[in-house]
Amino acid sequence: MHYFTQKNGQLFAEQVAIATLAQAIGTPFYCYSAATLRHSYRLFAKALQSLDATICYSVKANANLSVLTVLATEGAGADIVSEGELRRALAAGIAPEKIVFSGIGKTATEIIAALQADIAFFNVESAAELVLISQLAEQENKTARIAVRVNPDIDAGTHAKITTGKAETKFGIAWEDAEAIFAQAAALPNITACGLDIHIGSQITDLAPFRAAFDKTRALLIQLRKQGHKIDYLDLGGGLGVAYENAEQATEASHTPTPQDYAALIAEQFGDMGCHIFIEPGRVIAGHAGILVTSVIRTKKSKARNFIIVDAAMTELLRPALYGAYHHIAPINSPTKTDKGAELVWDIVGPVCETSDFLGLDRRLIEPQAGDLFAIFTAGAYGAVLGSDYNSRLRAPEIIVDGAQYALTRPRPTYDALLAQETIAHWLPKPTRKK
Ligand SMILES: *Cc1c(COP(=O)(O)O)cnc(C)c1O
Repeated sequence: MHYFTQKNGQLFAEQVAIATLAQAIGTPFYCYSAATLRHSYRLFAKALQSLDATICYSVKANANLSVLTVLATEGAGADIVSEGELRRALAAGIAPEKIVFSGIGKTATEIIAALQADIAFFNVESAAELVLISQLAEQENKTARIAVRVNPDIDAGTHAKITTGKAETKFGIAWEDAEAIFAQAAALPNITACGLDIHIGSQITDLAPFRAAFDKTRALLIQLRKQGHKIDYLDLGGGLGVAYENAEQATEASHTPTPQDYAALIAEQFGDMGCHIFIEPGRVIAGHAGILVTSVIRTKKSKARNFIIVDAAMTELLRPALYGAYHHIAPINSPTKTDKGAELVWDIVGPVCETSDFLGLDRRLIEPQAGDLFAIFTAGAYGAVLGSDYNSRLRAPEIIVDGAQYALTRPRPTYDALLAQETIAHWLPKPTRKK
């Protein structure tokens, strides 16, 4: 469900015409809908209301400060994976006691920053990290609350590159080592081991892997408590998927479980465990809340393929190039009956010099004109955050719409700003050509 809708043949973000935004700031750009973010967040909040639960939005899905602030205002916590994300979460007004810190490579500097901010807890992913947190907490005169991230060795049935809960991935502590690490934590100074954490992957569109992982987690929780560990927090990670096809294309098979289905499973598995539940949804909150708007540069037809070359590329939206991911793409103006030409099959590609630089393959569309606008849907998660300036392109600006108002929350940089990030090594000749 989202608030990007056609009105009189024109795409709107809530009450703002996309064409108006394109005219104001040029393309490509990201457009987020605050109402969609609130809607997605509230679905979770409502579904979990009978449980003692905190929703820690996974900042890495979309770290835009306005997006974070909309969610902070709803009462969201944050799941962070770096000091940069900690700073963003705090800057957006997310309460430190609702921030959890995940990731296998937390550095000493990052751990100290999180200790000083007094976050809810660290999701610890190795014995070495646990020892370091203990040392740093002692040095900072703090007690670090930690949850142990265990790897349940479950195949999430998703894309291999976003599977995290299999034993051979780099994430979490091996299931068979869980008891030993809790024992180690109990003996370390300045550590309170108060939680158990899992995260099995992303874009999971079936409840079965969650059920399998929750079954194992429940058994482990009971076992650990028997051994005297006081575990009050259960962090179940994120990973719930979204439908990337548009509604008409969606089939029975592409039906993704709803937050209600997911919450019912959590209640069934853990409702009687007396734990405070944390979940870390990212994609399912931000995914539908963003589109990428691009315009056609030109078309190019060859014997083998037809191409629509647009001004967005893998530098704006990497998912197709990285995962072969599908995004629904549609013109901003739905063609009227009179100008409806014959449809052809097109690959929608960007200008970047990589064959993997495509946004959509084999799309049936009427031949567009240069300057025509297209929207790439469900680009709110893992879109702008994965952007780069490869090919010395300027990163796409980000706009947020809320009802009838909109704001440019991240402007397009200038070429001067792009070049000013670097200096020429001092021993090299000074460029003589005037700018
Ligand atoms: C990426 C990530 C999430 C969010 O995953 P989604 O699929 O976007 O819900 C949650 N927790 C951890 C530890 C992550 O790495």
